[in-house]
Amino acid sequence: MSQGSAQNTRELEDRYELPVYPRRDIVLVRGKGARLYDEEGREYIDCASNVGVSNIGHGNEEVARAIYEQYRTLANCYGMFYNPVRAKLAQRLVELAPPRLQRVFFCNSGTEAVEGALKFARATTGRSEILAAMRGFHGKTFGALAATWGEEYQKPFLPMMPGVKHVPFNQFEKLAQAAGEETAAVILEPVQGEGGVRVGEKTYFEQVRRFCDEKGILLILDEVQTGFGRTGTLFACEQFVEPDLLCVAKSLAGGVPMGAVLCSDKVKVPVKSHTSTFGGNPLACAAALASLEIIVREKLSERARTLGAYFLEGLQAIASEKIRDVRGLGLMIGIELKEKAAPYVQRLAVKGVIVLLAGPNVIRLLPPLVITKEEIDMVLAAFEEVLG
Ligand code: PLP
Repeated sequence: MSQGSAQNTRELEDRYELPVYPRRDIVLVRGKGARLYDEEGREYIDCASNVGVSNIGHGNEEVARAIYEQYRTLANCYGMFYNPVRAKLAQRLVELAPPRLQRVFFCNSGTEAVEGALKFARATTGRSEILAAMRGFHGKTFGALAATWGEEYQKPFLPMMPGVKHVPFNQFEKLAQAAGEETAAVILEPVQGEGGVRVGEKTYFEQVRRFCDEKGILLILDEVQTGFGRTGTLFACEQFVEPDLLCVAKSLAGGVPMGAVLCSDKVKVPVKSHTSTFGGNPLACAAALASLEIIVREKLSERARTLGAYFLEGLQAIASEKIRDVRGLGLMIGIELKEKAAPYVQRLAVKGVIVLLAGPNVIRLLPPLVITKEEIDMVLAAFEEVLG
């Protein structure tokens, strides 16, 4: 089928797909670096990265070549057979991760990584309960959904998996009080993304780490959104504490679907109990190896740290009655407004800047880590016009 008009694309998607996404009225067809293009040829600066996927930018030639070559060689290889590309990626991830994390389980998405981590925690401890944070987001399959905070996500699908308690984020005493004999794991995001870009406090994470060690509870950190350079280090946990299980996905394979759980040696799971047809397929592994190589070689974590600080300062300098708070870590930034943020998201798109929401009042910025200073200045100018 030839590429249709923007109108045609909207009509087809609205006609044939289950309407589960709150749609934005933009038809995206192409991307390069930190720029996106719509069907009418309009250019946008991407400050969303497909919700934290495109850390290395769009249309990267090295990853494209790796995918092409691997598809021609061997795209799929179920985990019962050994494969050299998967072996290399597992080794590379363990080399790059904090020392406690020694093994990898491969899957295909963020929610699957969380699903795996929750199951591994139960299997390892023989306990059934999970502590999660209010405003936390961990995905939408049944296990992950039970850990995700928010009636709007859970209500249509009740009853939830039992045994998950939500406690206030960054309040250690509340978490300690909620834990019991049956607590298998605590799951937290180092920076809550969907929940409004709320940065965790290091002392809180240190207290939680000590508490988990004392009580034989496993600590799961969900870095599906914060991973791979986003917050200024390859993994955000480097700025907090080492977990027993680390969930990653989104930007792991340069835009190809892939998730993983990195596990400490404590984690024990019986053979056959948890597997995935596509988990660790060589196509995604080749993309991930190429993408990791770029993130490390191009020092994208450092870039996120310095450009993130520049971006944050620029936003904080905007004199606007409408802004309540500007916060973030690296190139993960939230602008909390005193009013609903959705109209401003639309106005920024008209100015050629694509941003995200994180709750009703927060504009979330997750640009590709390859965004330039000049592009950030253009985004700041658009914010100044829209909010100043
Ligand atoms: N965990 C976190 C922290 C996320 O931000 C997300 C998605 O936004 C998920 C899990 C779920 O990932 P996926 O949409 O790939 O299932």
